[in-house]
Amino acid sequence: MRTFSGIAASPGIAMGRLCVIDRCKTVTSEYPISSEAVIHETARLTKAVEDARVELESLKSRLSETNGEDHLLFVEIHLMILADERLVTETLEIIRTGLISAEGALRRTLHRYRETFAKIDDPYLSERISDVETVIERVLRCLSGEPESPLPQREGQIIIAAHDLSPADMLQINRNNVLAIITEIGGRTSHTAILARALDLPAVMGVEGISDLLLDGAAVIVDGLSGAVVVDPDQETFQSSLRRKHHYEYIEYELLKTAPLPAETVDGHQMYLRGNVEIPEEGASVLAHGGCGVGLYRTEMLFMNRAVMPDEEEQFLLYRAMQQAITPHSLTIRTLDSGGDKLLDGMDQAAEVNPALGVRAIRLSLNMPDEFKKQLRAILRVSADGPVRIMFPMISGMEEVRRAKELLEEAKRELTASGTPFDNKLLVGVMIEIPAAVTLADLLAREVDFFSVGTNDLIQYTLAIDRSNEQLSHLYQPLHPAVLRSLRRVVQAAHDAGIPACLCGEMAGDPLYLPVLLGLGFDELSMGAGSILRVKQILRRCTLERAASIAEGCFAFSTAAEVEMYLKSQITMDVAESID
Ligand code: PEP
Ligand code: MG
Repeated sequence: MRTFSGIAASPGIAMGRLCVIDRCKTVTSEYPISSEAVIHETARLTKAVEDARVELESLKSRLSETNGEDHLLFVEIHLMILADERLVTETLEIIRTGLISAEGALRRTLHRYRETFAKIDDPYLSERISDVETVIERVLRCLSGEPESPLPQREGQIIIAAHDLSPADMLQINRNNVLAIITEIGGRTSHTAILARALDLPAVMGVEGISDLLLDGAAVIVDGLSGAVVVDPDQETFQSSLRRKHHYEYIEYELLKTAPLPAETVDGHQMYLRGNVEIPEEGASVLAHGGCGVGLYRTEMLFMNRAVMPDEEEQFLLYRAMQQAITPHSLTIRTLDSGGDKLLDGMDQAAEVNPALGVRAIRLSLNMPDEFKKQLRAILRVSADGPVRIMFPMISGMEEVRRAKELLEEAKRELTASGTPFDNKLLVGVMIEIPAAVTLADLLAREVDFFSVGTNDLIQYTLAIDRSNEQLSHLYQPLHPAVLRSLRRVVQAAHDAGIPACLCGEMAGDPLYLPVLLGLGFDELSMGAGSILRVKQILRRCTLERAASIAEGCFAFSTAAEVEMYLKSQITMDVAESID
């Protein structure tokens, strides 16, 4: 028995035979060329890029014909990377100045991209290099003249292990016999992980050495809950994993039955439970888990890995795909929340000493009004077909909201002038993520139609704790009295102004916090699709009065640890009473 540990990237437990995919990288040789051969290598590269484009276009139409529309986005992203002129011009420059073969030049370009991406602190953004790698591998294969090799098909219940699986590979996975996936690279936010979750396929990633060919055919257990991978398990391990699997599946099954039940308390108080999403593929999962629409659509993904910003049409198509995935429910689109530590490739920005406090989110959008208006017009256009809300991230004061709204009005005028339809009554909200916004909540509430509290950032800025610093994670306390007081103030300000108070940070998805958030008066919680049913289960056991009393009780304590202890004791008390 051998145990490996990796990142739990998609929940679920599976047992099967390991199918190791040894898709060796295309072997490429870098060889010197004469200056006369530059023209020839240039032509080879151009042809290979075109061949790769044709392959992707054909994959795209295959997906459109079958039921793969949901996955088109990944193919679109790869087409966009391929269409990025910088990829070709930089490689041609290396061929010309370095006098080396097209293969060698392309590998050097990839190396440069890797260096650039490695400097990005944000794991989500740095993982996007895997898309660039996949595209460049495709071009290299085209250069070698090798045909595309599909994912090998095998009989029996298998678990695929590979160094890496591209989103295109994921689309070929036969759900009838592939039970789980394991990869050596990738993390929770990689496209492959996102797709695995969207496909309900347990996945463990970052498992070094698993694609060792000697393991092919071995019995394996994949635990997408804990991140463990056990090869050749002994009887005892197998039996205990089986019990864990049945327990997990039973709970999931029972929970899924509750998806159609209303999200309301015992005494009939309704709360909107919605999903946080990044790609249209996640929309279906939000609905399957009983979410009533999307409360946070992070639009950053479309802006990454590219030299030029996406144009209005491209944005419109993507936002519309998301809307269609969740129709007839409402879609809350957050404008670009990038910058600072998440620099966009196409922008010539100086490195910042303190990126978390730098030119990011709404500040970045307001610095480039033309680009911002493209996004606003794209969102407005989608609003013509169904309920859409727009929200601005990282608002710190009134000027920012007013300026953002002015630009929104300009965008509306431009659409009106061109006869393009949109919903003139589209709701506008702000994210409350900065302590200044909490303090000014009463003023901000007069300017907008709703608040959405981003607790991930609000906790970071209130407690001065870097949210991505693992060494400080014990100090990152959602129940810190300062955070709870901020939440209470925001809800009060919203309700005094007659607008709803929503919350879309990770706090929303933790069932322990539900009684407090409900008791404080939040009207809507938005979370990862996988959390919705668990949160709803607790909601359906509460009464509003009891939740209000629990929330009020939290304010009697002066530390997060005390509040947490109190909260757990109250919940235990309730459970004990319900058993009595
Ligand atoms: C938040 O800050 O809570 C939030 C939802 O935004 P993000 O995690 O994308 O910064
Ligand atoms: Mg945030």
